[in-house]
Amino acid sequence: MFADLQLKQKEYFYRGETKDLEFRLKQLDKLYEVLKANEDLFFDALAKDLNKSKDEAYVTEMMLLYQEINHTKKHLEEWMKPEKVKTAISHTGSQGYIQHEPYGVSLIIAPWNYPVQLAFAPLIGAVSAGNCAVVKPSELTPNVSRAITNVINNHFPKEYIHAVEGAVEESQALLDLPFDYIFFTGSVAVGKKVMEAASKRLTPLTLELGGKSPVIVDKEAKIDVAAKRIAFGKFLNAGQTCVAPDYLLVHQEVKHEFLAALNKEIQRFKKDKINKGKYVRIVSERHFERLVSFLDEGETLIGGGYSEAALRINPTVLQNVALDSPLMEEEIFGPILPIFTYEKIEEVYAMVRERPNPLALYVFTENKDLADQVLENLSFGGGCVNDTVMHLATPHLPFGGVGESGMGAYHGFESFAAFSHRKSILKQTTKFDLAVRYKQNKFTTSVLRKLVE
Ligand code: NAD
Repeated sequence: MFADLQLKQKEYFYRGETKDLEFRLKQLDKLYEVLKANEDLFFDALAKDLNKSKDEAYVTEMMLLYQEINHTKKHLEEWMKPEKVKTAISHTGSQGYIQHEPYGVSLIIAPWNYPVQLAFAPLIGAVSAGNCAVVKPSELTPNVSRAITNVINNHFPKEYIHAVEGAVEESQALLDLPFDYIFFTGSVAVGKKVMEAASKRLTPLTLELGGKSPVIVDKEAKIDVAAKRIAFGKFLNAGQTCVAPDYLLVHQEVKHEFLAALNKEIQRFKKDKINKGKYVRIVSERHFERLVSFLDEGETLIGGGYSEAALRINPTVLQNVALDSPLMEEEIFGPILPIFTYEKIEEVYAMVRERPNPLALYVFTENKDLADQVLENLSFGGGCVNDTVMHLATPHLPFGGVGESGMGAYHGFESFAAFSHRKSILKQTTKFDLAVRYKQNKFTTSVLRKLVE
């Protein structure tokens, strides 16, 4: 289905133009201009597919892309320079370098929840590293998918960067082709299939997946700040955020105070977003029904309402949810927050360790030792102390998962690194030759032992 496209890109890649610094910078400029010029097109598409307001779309989709492009342009020349390394005594006379070389033709498969950002952010990495790329946006946000495809295909040559629309069948057809790199963002279940497909050719890949990200509220937390930032991270995009707090572990001594503060934030959110028609909707009827079924799995403390016609689920907090219920076994990916209490931090460790390593983890506390202890004791992709979600919005931190929440990372330098192979080169002198290398005997061994051990 796409074999010709992949082949044409490969031929173009071998012409070498994409490797040049000036070429890469020019393409990044062009990408910036094209995104800016088509902002309204993306805003309209995001409103149609997700009821995402312009302001939310700017902050969560476009802004990050502009930041990433600016940061990349500023540092690219430095990143591209061969990295000089030290020389071992056994290699006297030679010099070691690490050269970042583009993989070649890369495949980017994107999800629907931040459909613009998650298609273009990896593309910035692919371009900066000197690759060609095929981008496949998600079929669940069809207006955005069309907008991405039109914008890319109207402004870039097919043999360099191209977007194709499609669902599972198209995605699988792409995965069957000999791409040099695969960058996948999506669910754990599909991530496993992508890795299986990649394993046939041992294609290197990045998997940006999901999972159940816990948020811990300690008794020494600033409760009002915690409630505000947790509500922000959870109800943004109606909870359809890979790093949204999935479940809440609150110290039993502050549960009531925290719930009161959270309720205040939810009421404010209703006034600012829901009542003004600016609340993001659930992406499809199938996703909506799944989330509605979760509402019966606990006792409602806040919210619980929904509208099938608008595919809207109000911000909801539940308690007494069974740990083996689907709500606690699947990633929620919606505006429903189950709450649990703990007395000792070890209970938190046990609960988090029972589940696959989360993509994100958040801890709210003024107790620095406790925060450090949590960071030390639990494995997760990345996270925040006294905040949610914000760690992903900076080009200075690698963003990615660990274990089931993914492998590899991107953003800033890490995007460039993700799409590059680190090639080790030893440049050897011809001015002299160390004889010990060719002659192995007792004497040379004793000399080498002295030098090395
Ligand atoms: P998904 O895995 O269903 O789909 C992602 C992409 O894969 C889409 O383009 C889709 O067309 C394609 N696809 C679907 N089934 C496929 C198959 N069998 N074979 C090949 N390709 C297939 O994910 P989604 O529902 O679009 O996104 C939600 C998930 O993505 C959540 O789990 C969320 O946590 C995760 N996510 C992760 C990040 C991150 O950066 N780590 C960001 C956003 C979303």
